[in-house]
Amino acid sequence: MKFKNEIVVVTGATRGIGKAIAMAFAKQDAEVILIGRSQDALKALSDEIRASGQASDFFACDVANGENVQKTVNIILDKYKRIDILINNAGITRDNLLLRMSESDWDDVINTNLKGVFNFTKAVSRPMLKAKKGKIISIASIIGITGNAGQANYAASKAGIIGFTKSVARELASRGITANAIAPGYIETEMTGQLNEELKDKILKTIPLGRLGTVEDIANISLFLASKEADYITGQTIVVDGGMAI
Ligand code: NDP
Repeated sequence: MKFKNEIVVVTGATRGIGKAIAMAFAKQDAEVILIGRSQDALKALSDEIRASGQASDFFACDVANGENVQKTVNIILDKYKRIDILINNAGITRDNLLLRMSESDWDDVINTNLKGVFNFTKAVSRPMLKAKKGKIISIASIIGITGNAGQANYAASKAGIIGFTKSVARELASRGITANAIAPGYIETEMTGQLNEELKDKILKTIPLGRLGTVEDIANISLFLASKEADYITGQTIVVDGGMAI
């Protein structure tokens, strides 16, 4: 599964799942372009990738800002001429029970998680259509399928990604472009690091494979969906949750 000379854009690449995906593509010889909001964190990761002899670049960009996203994609296209693979990974949580959920908690999550996917996918679609080539992979969540008390905003954003992916897959299929989603279960990152031990133990009991997921579990399926081996898979949501939602 080598990605030599492939241009891969990863949003939310500075830590957690996005960082693991970026490093996995870099290891497979891709040219990885990192997107996030923190310039310093982006530079640090880009330097780390370059130090290991792989190619990498970075652009600070808020995925929720459509104008900013289009400008960033234009700059990438000017410099690299094409984008072969897009990984929509940036995401946030603002958990609260519905009755206590503020409008800004709702808006922040929908704007980052769902509108961010719309912004980046729309911006890369035109060049991918022209090139008759492209793979779009969006990180949804098992919560978008099962729902979760205290996460109505997050669940709505992730369910939205799944429906969005199916529609985009239908729109772009005639040019050989695929769009798929990944629905991780509980993966050990800073996002889930906020959970207390009692809740973590409770979650563990619901996972048949008996462990939380690792960022590499998600990086591996991303590599596969972006590869030639997955050319005939589109519009799908691949659940990677240790069997939690069987
Ligand atoms: P982290 O909080 O560890 O990382 C999130 C990344 O997204 C950071 O790089 C952050 O960078 C970036 N980001 C956040 N907001 C924006 C924005 N507006 N514009 C650009 N970048 C942004 O999260 P995880 O690695 O845990 O999660 C990654 C994805 O996987 C998310 O979409 C999440 O919903 C999903 N997921 C995670 C699960 C888990 O168990 N961890 C389970 C299921 C799904 P910065 O703050 O510097 O901008």
